[in-house]
Amino acid sequence: MENYDAIVAGAGIWGCTVARRLAEAGKRVLVLERREEAGGNVRCETDAETGIEVHTYGSHIFHTHIPEVWRFVNRFTEFNGYQHKVLARYRGKTYFLPLGLALVNGFFGTDLTPPELAGFMADENHSKALFDAFFRGYTSKQWGRPPEEIDPAVIKRVPVRSSYDINYFNDMWQGIPANGYNALFEALLDHPSITMRRGVEFRLDGGRGMAGGDMLPPARIYYSGPVDALFGCKFGHLPWRTLRFERETLSVADYQGTAVVNYTEAEVPYTRIHEFKHYHPERRETMALGKTVVMREYPAAWKPGDEPYYPVDCAESRGLLSRYMEEASKVPGLTVGGRLGAYRYFDMDRSVEAALAVDVEWSDWRGSDPRPQH
Ligand SMILES: Cc1cc2nc3c(=O)[nH]c(=O)nc-3n(C[C@H](O)[C@H](O)[C@H](O)COP(=O)(O)OP(=O)(O)OC[C@H]3O[C@@H](n4cnc5c(N)ncnc54)[C@H](O)[C@@H]3O)c2cc1C
Repeated sequence: MENYDAIVAGAGIWGCTVARRLAEAGKRVLVLERREEAGGNVRCETDAETGIEVHTYGSHIFHTHIPEVWRFVNRFTEFNGYQHKVLARYRGKTYFLPLGLALVNGFFGTDLTPPELAGFMADENHSKALFDAFFRGYTSKQWGRPPEEIDPAVIKRVPVRSSYDINYFNDMWQGIPANGYNALFEALLDHPSITMRRGVEFRLDGGRGMAGGDMLPPARIYYSGPVDALFGCKFGHLPWRTLRFERETLSVADYQGTAVVNYTEAEVPYTRIHEFKHYHPERRETMALGKTVVMREYPAAWKPGDEPYYPVDCAESRGLLSRYMEEASKVPGLTVGGRLGAYRYFDMDRSVEAALAVDVEWSDWRGSDPRPQH
């Protein structure tokens, strides 16, 4: 096998950003991705019947307040200016999230002004009613816990906006790549020093990198798969929550009038309905089409083999994580990152930020090995 300076295992947004930076720093990079396509959980597909771009692993909106991240991604894509809003359905009525004047006045039938909101919310009856309607059932479904176990103190940590601003994110920049996320990943990997192999799983065997059954030549390794899998889950599996998606094409031009509606009652088994055409209002043809694609999102318990979505923060998982991280620190030249490697929920911008912080300026380690020695 050809020699490479660096192996990047996992072509999600973290891995693709690291690969690009390594290539631009003069390194020859081999990217290994176990799926058939790059993009990780941000991957999209074009629905064959309607041409609508579907976010395969759930809605992804790029948003950030980090200038370096925004500058970096804008080298590879334009954004379409989409501004994310989330609505909530509760007992047959629709409300505007997040927690602010629109939600409170809509829910209580009040006409509070900004200075009146804080006093109104200080009344425990009001905050409890909001908690019960919009947070208790939703959180219990998301984490698979009975509604009565959800701590009402949660609502005290939810920021309250004393305005009618219903933009879901507070960030300076947001949008969806105008040509879709897949084009962003293709652009990131489009560099003469990057070789991509798809459908190939990376693993470690006695500290040496393996691509499927082939031993890889020595190189620095940047791994963004699950950190426990790297060590054969020898201390046990890190726990996750998973999601099940149910997709449907409907013969209506517009099903719910917006991209995401949360279903907050515990009795409704799904948490959200995504309607993807709304992410591209500039695509006039798909907007006008008499069809739409929706996807219901069902949180579920995770078992080995299921897609990992949300890490479960508990004493057991923290203990396991530190054992695996200690193992990783003993492997010379290994960097573990990304959401699966770090076992943390990262928004895309945080993944890019972490990838921008990775050291790529080392010299060829075959001459003098700059890898950490243990
Ligand atoms: C339901 C949901 C909705 C989200 N919505 C948003 C949003 O709106 N906005 C936002 O900013 N963020 C969102 N996120 C977060 C976003 O998905 C992550 O920030 C992003 O996917 C992290 O990228 P990554 O590269 O770290 O990991 P991943 O995308 O998981 O990529 C890791 C890649 O590594 C591959 N891999 C794993 N093991 C191996 C191996 N051994 N060998 C080779 N390849 C391997 C995987 O196949 C995968 O392609 C959401 C997350 C979830 C769960």
